[in-house]
Amino acid sequence: MGLTQDNSLPIPPAGSLNPAGSLNAVDWVVGWARANSLWPLVFGTSCCAIEMMATGASHHDWARFGLEVARASPRQADLIILAGTIVEKMGSRLVTLYEQMPGPKYVIAMGACTISGGPFYYDSYSVIKGADRIVPIDVYIPGCPPRPEALLYGIMQLQALIRKGAWRKSLTHQPLNTSPIRDVYSDCSKAWEIKEKAKQESMKEAQERFKAENPDFKGVVIKRVAAPKFDEVARVPKPARGMPPAEIFSALQARFPAVAVHGNADVTQEKWAALGPEYVLDLAVSREDYHGVVEFLRNEPALKLDFLIEITAVDWKDHFDVIVHLQSLDHGHKVFLRCNLPHETHPEIPTLMDLFASANWHERETYDFFGIIFVGHPDLRRLFLDDDFPGHPLRKDFEDPTRVVKRPY
Ligand code: SF4
Repeated sequence: MGLTQDNSLPIPPAGSLNPAGSLNAVDWVVGWARANSLWPLVFGTSCCAIEMMATGASHHDWARFGLEVARASPRQADLIILAGTIVEKMGSRLVTLYEQMPGPKYVIAMGACTISGGPFYYDSYSVIKGADRIVPIDVYIPGCPPRPEALLYGIMQLQALIRKGAWRKSLTHQPLNTSPIRDVYSDCSKAWEIKEKAKQESMKEAQERFKAENPDFKGVVIKRVAAPKFDEVARVPKPARGMPPAEIFSALQARFPAVAVHGNADVTQEKWAALGPEYVLDLAVSREDYHGVVEFLRNEPALKLDFLIEITAVDWKDHFDVIVHLQSLDHGHKVFLRCNLPHETHPEIPTLMDLFASANWHERETYDFFGIIFVGHPDLRRLFLDDDFPGHPLRKDFEDPTRVVKRPY
């Protein structure tokens, strides 16, 4: 029930004014005013947030429903629209924001991720499997992502609840979701398999019965139109930039004889040619040579690999590879470099922070996810996960009790 056509306050229909003896005329007017002046807090975390922004922008314009500018402070807001994936590290911050909002306050859960964890329900160590496990939700809007029309409809549903008198209770009596996390997918696929088997058996019976009753039936011959054949389009190789990999390698080997090309122990002239013009040099270095090799690649004027693209790692179950990706901004050539580390709880490798300031966050990320210690890093602490997160989630031996489906290794 909003404004009437002439913008005046509509008269509540008889019977709705005081349905349970608890709603008087003043309550009704306050509820009406409150429902039409919601102040949302900015809380968009991923793709759903784009739809939420579109809902606030000129085409859909949620201001038509009394929602005005999204607030940056919980003290000036009474509605959180949770739009996007909510991860564990965000969880405590979300609860703090919710608690800092003055009541009466409301929460809308927009999209599959917020409602249940969405596509991250099954194999994620960090996504909260439903925002209603940490804050009470008043309206759920399904979809991935829901369109702006759906969000507007959800807002209208919330307004209807507030007008009905729920503004008194803030709707916060909604209980938190404490239901156990279940593997619904596997249950469904097992049930589906049984149904499919029964269907196939009954089809087979029906086919055999039909054949017995119609022995002369020849069936229908379906003539398929031949698929058109298209000419092969020759791939145009990217023009080579910078120094060829063979030259970079021989410059490096003159200084570090133990360095090898990954996957090509004895690389010959023919092998270099077979690797093709788009091959990026992939080096295997020992832990002892690791820092010296990167320093040489950066400082040698002919190489000048002075841009650190990335530091990351791979867990191969029996060992780790720390991967460094470098580029020369002047010359254009690139180099991958991998260093084999033993599969220990906290394998160690020297930091590259004295060579590249940008190594700081890359090394923290690699520590966070794999537990690899970068010796000499001035501030090696977790980057994405909470300080008390148990373990390092990208290690193959990481056990996550909340994971619904186990990885097949
Ligand atoms: S529900 Fe879909 S669109 Fe929304 S945040 Fe999740 S993945 Fe993105």
